[in-house]
Amino acid sequence: MVDAAREEWAQIARNIENEQEIMALLEAGRERVDSHDEVLAILKKAEEAKGLTLEEAAALIAIEDEELRRATWEAAGKVKHAIYGNRVVMFAPLYVANHCVNNCRYCGYSFKNKEMMRKKLTMDEIKEETRALINMGHKRIALEAGEDPVNIPLSYILDAIGAIYSVEENALNLRRINVNIAATDVAGYKALHDAEIGTYILFQESYRRKTYENMHVSGPKSNFNYHTSAHHRAMMGGIEDVGFGVLYGLDDWRYETIAMLRHAHILEKDQGVGPHTLSVPRVKKAIGVDNEMFPYALTDDEFLQVVAVLRLSLPYAGIILSTRESIEVRNRALTLGVSQMSAASCTGVGGYSVYKEEKEKTAQFSITDERSLAEVVRSLAQGGYMPSFCTACYRCGRTGDRFMELAKSGLIQLVCQPNALVTLKEFSLDFCPETNNPAYYEQELEKIANEKVRADTKDKLARLEKGERDLYL
Ligand code: SF4
Ligand code: SF4
Repeated sequence: MVDAAREEWAQIARNIENEQEIMALLEAGRERVDSHDEVLAILKKAEEAKGLTLEEAAALIAIEDEELRRATWEAAGKVKHAIYGNRVVMFAPLYVANHCVNNCRYCGYSFKNKEMMRKKLTMDEIKEETRALINMGHKRIALEAGEDPVNIPLSYILDAIGAIYSVEENALNLRRINVNIAATDVAGYKALHDAEIGTYILFQESYRRKTYENMHVSGPKSNFNYHTSAHHRAMMGGIEDVGFGVLYGLDDWRYETIAMLRHAHILEKDQGVGPHTLSVPRVKKAIGVDNEMFPYALTDDEFLQVVAVLRLSLPYAGIILSTRESIEVRNRALTLGVSQMSAASCTGVGGYSVYKEEKEKTAQFSITDERSLAEVVRSLAQGGYMPSFCTACYRCGRTGDRFMELAKSGLIQLVCQPNALVTLKEFSLDFCPETNNPAYYEQELEKIANEKVRADTKDKLARLEKGERDLYL
């Protein structure tokens, strides 16, 4: 890294971390929350689904009063419903390699962890895992790998992306690969963009430098400046959709939430577009990890408050929840703002097929919700949700600012619901006859207000019945 670049990343990171400003926001929020009327006014504004200022978000995150907390959840539920209706986008992670040169204290993949079995899939094995995911019904994945420039160079990741996209199984394929790999340079991000990734996801883990440095003992990830400026570099490299995430449990959840929202504002100001998604993992048990060292673990209610405040503050960012959470928490979080969910996940390398027997020995963390994809889809449908396998935007070039423009104007709604219906139909025909009830599709079609869109959707549903696949609006 040359000095000028190093200084540029340091400058971006300093701007994002600004502990003094975040503490001042939290303090102002604590003062504001004493007035119920003021909180209710913020919630009223939030229900317009135009987002909140950081000051307003800080007031909501400071709420301790049970009644106000319920009111926040109610407002978040309304915004969630207005924007996402009953849709939930489904995906699964695909772990390709777990070598890692970093020592992150919360992660089982830390190189210090000698109990972890290390695996790196060959391209043939990656294709086999891809076939397994396709045969489960998945269409969208998050590619995951440790950081190891020797064992897992970027060229390996790029080859893996090509291998995954190349697989066609019974005329089906994985249609969107989001990528969750270590921070890299602008050239690296450009290569990922050219490989046609969906969203580039990188968790900040903690926004407080002190905590970050304490948790990341050694390795490239311990460089706070390089890591914190990564989303800026990704956008400079041409990636339009980036995802943020905090690992809840490392530091005060209120601090981290306001810091992540602040990061979103800064990215939008600097690069023209904010984050496409926000992830909210909580620290979980992992092989070789001492979970006693995380004093900031959240209660379920605090966790739900985080989801609600994020939803109200950034109405158009997808909120992602993993199978780390229990079915009960997942169901509650869905009503408040979560819009994407992993299902039938395996966090081990090759765990879907090639190294199924060893998946516990290669897993990054343990999962709580172990249902199959069809089970999750059935249960969501029974609960009134519409599981969606839609990947349309990325494939029509509706990304970055084009996506945000449509999202903020509400026009994206014209296609989200129909696409959810069409992709659910395809999944049901191929994998889940229980959700292929004609009356359901008739009823959902009637709810599409735009006549032309309704006719187009009806036509696509009929074409799927006749055997066509991969249709979208
Ligand atoms: Fe490696 Fe990522 Fe785990 Fe850190 S969190 S040890 S970088 S896989
Ligand atoms: Fe997502 Fe676009 Fe599909 Fe809507 S239409 S669900 S925004 S990919």
